[in-house]
Amino acid sequence: MSTKQKRFFLTEDQIPTQWYNIQADMVNKPMPPLNPQTKQPLKPEDLYPIFAKELCHQELDQKNAWIDIPEEVRDMYKYYRSTPLVRAYGLEKALGTPAHIYFKNESVSPVGSHKLNSALPQAYYCKEEGVTNITTETGAGQWGCALSYAAKVFGLEAAVYQVKISYNQKPYRRSIMQTYGAQVTPSPSMSTKAGKKILTEDPNNQGSLGTAISEAIELAVSTPNCKYTLGSVLSHVTLHQTIIGLEAEKQMEMAGEYPDIVIGCFGGGSNFGGISFPFMRHNILEGKKTRFIAAEPASCPKLTQGVFQYDFGDVAGYTPLLPMYTLGHNFMPANIHAGGLRYHGAGVIVSQLLKDGLMEATDIKQTESFKAGTLFAKAEGIIPAPESCHAIAAAINEANKCKETGEEKVILFNLSGHGLIDMSAYDQYLSGSLLDFEITEEDVKRNIAELEKVIK
Ligand SMILES: *Cc1c(COP(=O)(O)O)cnc(C)c1O
Repeated sequence: MSTKQKRFFLTEDQIPTQWYNIQADMVNKPMPPLNPQTKQPLKPEDLYPIFAKELCHQELDQKNAWIDIPEEVRDMYKYYRSTPLVRAYGLEKALGTPAHIYFKNESVSPVGSHKLNSALPQAYYCKEEGVTNITTETGAGQWGCALSYAAKVFGLEAAVYQVKISYNQKPYRRSIMQTYGAQVTPSPSMSTKAGKKILTEDPNNQGSLGTAISEAIELAVSTPNCKYTLGSVLSHVTLHQTIIGLEAEKQMEMAGEYPDIVIGCFGGGSNFGGISFPFMRHNILEGKKTRFIAAEPASCPKLTQGVFQYDFGDVAGYTPLLPMYTLGHNFMPANIHAGGLRYHGAGVIVSQLLKDGLMEATDIKQTESFKAGTLFAKAEGIIPAPESCHAIAAAINEANKCKETGEEKVILFNLSGHGLIDMSAYDQYLSGSLLDFEITEEDVKRNIAELEKVIK
């Protein structure tokens, strides 16, 4: 094996045929989601009105470690998978680090991010049970784009509620969704009761993810043959994303290395879990000592400053109660460019893993993230998504520690998406007008105190 190989690919027949469900191997299983009225543990059937049945079962499956990827989904994965595992020689040189840095490049998917890995199976399972329409919400638009394309692939109609401020500020993601044939509605809208109520009280409301979720769920439950889909946070979404780490495991083997550190940026946990869990299984089952680091924004630090407790997944309180690290569902994150990381809570699996010390978290300021992303762009040529810049910053921090100690650690991070549609954010960074939003301990305490009241 040449020591100079830059990129590692799998042939189509080497692409994994199963996803990995870490819940089956966890010693302490995640606590169950609760029905908010009865406080009873949720059964898969309780979720049938909202999600495709197969997804409801995947969500709560704590027994089966391996789940077959349907053939139709595997055929679609071939449109862009395997994604390359890349040795970041350029970045290593720029840092002067003895560390070996690798990244998994999920930005090569047709929609530019890892989100398609879950959009395809979600649309497929809906199609399989006779659903004709799917709906969702999107902020910056990465998930909306992935879902719009997946819906087209499987012959479904997609209705996307996009947070109004993003609908107006990120016109290209809206155009992408419309190009794939989706119907995109700025939220809040007059098309739902939830939207009407908000607009009647405040005609200039610019929307939020919480409001858009409420509108999408309302449409799904009030329309025949229509299901709701979600692009992060839930356990079935992270399950689908394990295709990233399963491929990386084989590709690292081709490179003749095994990671000492695995890093992903963290919104709800799906790309972090996707790259980490297949490697974490060797920590759990064979006592390997790989470190797993989730990189979250300093302005939305649920893992580093939040509390572990039951909370709602949305602002309106429509979802089940989830046991998670949270800043409180009323927490309103600052308007950072990494829109995909602006979420108050963490998925139930990663929350349990963090509580049990199987992973770590670090927080990254907005300016630090863009500094890292710009360095990466110059060294490797790829302009990273603002979200992915957080993973790069954390990888650089670890590589710089190796420079001090002289250790040749193997660092693997996930490049969750490219930033070519986020150049206005880079413009702000380059002109020096990008802001850091930090939250104070008092902010956090106040939100969490509110949370105690709501849960009781
Ligand atoms: C949505 C998104 C994220 C954050 O979501 P996770 O579920 O935490 O992975 C990260 N990066 C990109 C490019 C995204 O679109």
